[in-house]
Amino acid sequence: VNTPRYLTGDKAGIREFLDKFDVFLFDCDGMCLVFSFEPGLLSALRIPQGTSEQTGTKIRSVETLELLRKNGKQVVFVTNNSTKSRADYRKKLESLQIPSTVEEIFSSSYSASIYISRILKLPENKRKVFVIGENGIEQELSSENVPFIGGTDPAYRRDIKPEDYKMIAAGDESLLDPEVGVVLVGLDFHINYFKIALAYHYIKRGAVFLATNIDSTLPNSGTLFPGAGSMSAPLIMMLGGQEPVALGKPNQAMMDSIEGKFKFDRSRAVMVGDRANTDIRFGLEGKLGGTLGVLTGVSSKQDFVEGPVRPHAYLDKLSDLLVLDS
Ligand code: PLP
Ligand code: CA
Repeated sequence: VNTPRYLTGDKAGIREFLDKFDVFLFDCDGMCLVFSFEPGLLSALRIPQGTSEQTGTKIRSVETLELLRKNGKQVVFVTNNSTKSRADYRKKLESLQIPSTVEEIFSSSYSASIYISRILKLPENKRKVFVIGENGIEQELSSENVPFIGGTDPAYRRDIKPEDYKMIAAGDESLLDPEVGVVLVGLDFHINYFKIALAYHYIKRGAVFLATNIDSTLPNSGTLFPGAGSMSAPLIMMLGGQEPVALGKPNQAMMDSIEGKFKFDRSRAVMVGDRANTDIRFGLEGKLGGTLGVLTGVSSKQDFVEGPVRPHAYLDKLSDLLVLDS
């Protein structure tokens, strides 16, 4: 295992590192976003630790992205957050003064949707997706013309009823839609026993088990909450260890779809992110030319320097790259 190079304050080292790459795959949360998509998700508490301090009205991560673009670097935003669509992300980035196009954004909701519509060969009568998750997944499934049930539908956001048990046991088609061929699990702020029971029965009836991502935790307000991986975990438990195919970082299906869109040279690309076991692993397993860790999110310096998954280099914060402009 390598010893990652610490680049904060090392202007020559930063220049040398950046010169190696034309394509920058950027993680989003914990990286370039100051404020999160849900109010308060990235707390003020984390900002003093370096999460993109504000300089006047501009966030320094915004300036950093501008600098990279000015130097001709291609920027791609890669997020495991499935609760939003690419369009939501574009709007959010815009509100933070980060210009982007929908084409430059890869969310796990999009990655999962194109996997379902373009990679999975589902029989015509098994094309429906049972969703555990939020509206970002629904938007992206719709954009790929994939039919779905569950998700944010209030009919599924309820307690299980005594008659449900009998109907599920009997395979009653008013509860178990025979056209469901996929169960897709992302972060669902209203996950409940009823949905887990239905998902289990769909999978037992042959549905493909997918997850948008398997982040164990979701950082919020300076502490941790259940991540999308904690939504699929009860199903894995119930299925005796059967794991979903996960479409977010570090899964290479996401890398392949990014490459499918941009046709870039992997040796000239770098993955930048805060989380060793998702972002950095994603870049390493994708055989990118480089990986760059930042200490403004989940992983600690110890994780990067001593952990099992280590970036090529790391920074205290993304805006440390701005020394190049000074
Ligand atoms: N999943 C959810 C639901 C999130 O809200 C977030 C961060 O906002 C993430 C995953 C992690 O996103 P990223 O891959 O951009 O760090
Ligand atoms: Ca992140």
